[in-house]
Amino acid sequence: MKKGLLNSQTVLYGVLGDPIGHSRSPIMHNRAFRELGLNAAYTAFHVSADRLHGAVEGIRALGLGGVNVTIPHKVEIMPYLDHIDEGARVAGAVNTVVNRGGVLTGYNTDGIGYVRSLKEETGVDLTTARVLILGAGGAARGVAYELAREGVPCIYIANRTSKRANELAAIIDKYTEAIGLGMDEIGDIMHEVTIVINTTSVGMSPNVNETPLSADYLHRGLIVSDLIYNPRVTKLLQEAEACGARPHGGLGMFIFQGACAFELWTGKPAPIEVMREIVLESLQNRG
Ligand code: NAP
Repeated sequence: MKKGLLNSQTVLYGVLGDPIGHSRSPIMHNRAFRELGLNAAYTAFHVSADRLHGAVEGIRALGLGGVNVTIPHKVEIMPYLDHIDEGARVAGAVNTVVNRGGVLTGYNTDGIGYVRSLKEETGVDLTTARVLILGAGGAARGVAYELAREGVPCIYIANRTSKRANELAAIIDKYTEAIGLGMDEIGDIMHEVTIVINTTSVGMSPNVNETPLSADYLHRGLIVSDLIYNPRVTKLLQEAEACGARPHGGLGMFIFQGACAFELWTGKPAPIEVMREIVLESLQNRG
């Protein structure tokens, strides 16, 4: 196909969300399609909650190749799909839908994307890691499940609402040892932790002066990872670096969750570096 030219064979993809105008997914996926010379295009669909069911029927009726799903539809979309992959079932949320001949399957690539980013960007061996996850929301569920599948032997989950931490730990404990904690119990286990992962929204723009973990717990030898990528370097990561710990930011997770979706749709390896380049460029140019 001539570069950038849409025609009657073009396969359409998109992202459903509300709001959606800020999404970097269209530029990332269109750049990836162009890199591989695929006759495909990706756009953003602003879908309100009352139109979600209709939008899902539209995927089938119009023969879209698939979609990403973002806030606030990741949970609500699940009953409208034909199949839910195990990872998405454990995470309790879908962020990617694949349309195979009108049969819609929901996946969650956030957790897989996070783990790919963590491994590729830090080189860590997860089979000997002892992980503390801060937070027990949607992102924490997918991340905890994929870490367990990667062979992490022990996962602590600490959350402001400790009941949610205990509930998530009970689910993950089917896959590896998982223990729920209140935030006030972190001091008891910190000496054995090798990776800290912030999955809370604490520190996200505009609250950039907040951090979910006291700097007193940070030290050389820890990997400190933050799912937040706005700002690129959170207060938690700044303090981690100052203590000699190894910081790992959330942008890679965004790129790799997109890459995993791209691979599910196309069956081809995603061109990670050009995807990363264009997202970085777009973040630098934002007003
Ligand atoms: P969520 O389901 O709403 O969960 C939010 C979590 O943050 C809960 O554990 C909540 O604790 C905790 N929390 C919120 N405010 C808090 C506060 N003031 N003090 C302590 N804990 C607080 O959200 P989510 O979808 O999991 O997303 C969480 C974060 O991950 C967001 O910052 C999001 O941007 C990021 N994320 C990044 C990517 C990526 O591609 N890099 C992908 C997905 C998500 P309670 O249970 O006590 O309320």
